[in-house]
Amino acid sequence: MTLELADVSVRFSDTLALDSVDLSIADGETVAIIGPSGCGKSTLLRAVAGLQALDSGSISLAGRSLADVPAHERGIGLMFQDHALFPHLDVAANVSFGLEMGGVAAKEQASRVAEMLSLVGLDGFADRSIDALSGGEAQRVALARSLAPAPSLLMLDEPLGSLDRVLREQLTADLRALIRELGTTTLHVTHDQTEAFALADRVVVLRDGRIEQAGSPSELWHRPASVFVAEFVGHTNLWPNPMGGTDVVPLTALSIVDSGQAGDVEATVTAVTFREGRHLVESRRADGSMASFEADEAPPVGGSVQLRLDQAKVINLST
Ligand code: ADP
Repeated sequence: MTLELADVSVRFSDTLALDSVDLSIADGETVAIIGPSGCGKSTLLRAVAGLQALDSGSISLAGRSLADVPAHERGIGLMFQDHALFPHLDVAANVSFGLEMGGVAAKEQASRVAEMLSLVGLDGFADRSIDALSGGEAQRVALARSLAPAPSLLMLDEPLGSLDRVLREQLTADLRALIRELGTTTLHVTHDQTEAFALADRVVVLRDGRIEQAGSPSELWHRPASVFVAEFVGHTNLWPNPMGGTDVVPLTALSIVDSGQAGDVEATVTAVTFREGRHLVESRRADGSMASFEADEAPPVGGSVQLRLDQAKVINLST
């Protein structure tokens, strides 16, 4: 279902937590809201869920205003980082919680629970106790619970935040496939741009309660509207341009030249980490700005390197 926020503002005494936010999420679309702590992500999520009153503006779901619809009648599935499963209930009772609340008959509940557990890859887990689940399994149960009542909108709040990296990557891929398969409209809130980029069709960068930029992951990466967005999506090489503004230099714009040859840029290596078969080299130019790049061979830390700069990949931001 389509979610529409029009001119939404929320104020807490002297803080404007949401400042005239306009956002439209198409039926079946996955949108991630990213931004640093305090930018208004939770307030936005709470406003849509019906847990936070608006000071102005309106929110509608499937064309229907939510103004007078209480939280439990909004048809929204929520999944939080700490997943908050009920420890005294088994897996099946957790998954059927929303169905029970909605007055669904016991027999129907059982078949829906089986269907949901199968969907999240947990066939046969119905009778397990919550204590007996791994972190990843608990996360899947939480997802099954939020999807069981077939919500019009799924909202994810840092859904994979508490898991280790390998599990996160696995679950991110699973979650993406599942959301696509179900075609559920999804609003995903996170401070982690990697998670947002992996899951979302469109990413919205929020800054001080305002939308700074919205676009596909690729648009945000290749055409950031500001230094704030460039930094937030993970660009590290931000160089003052002598003609004005800032040059955003993607990692792939820099490559090391053979020893003895002159490059376009000179820098001093400050750190080297091994990443997916290559070395991520961090270095600094004379003015202190960062020049990170990837290399097959690790240059010595503390040494100087000559780098070739592919100007065509450089993004100049005038602000
Ligand atoms: P985020 O989720 O991006 O970290 P929040 O939505 O929690 O941001 O907060 C946005 C702003 O509103 C922050 O400045 C925060 O301090 C303020 N804020 C959030 N909730 C309250 C509240 N209940 N009372 C007062 N200020 C609040």
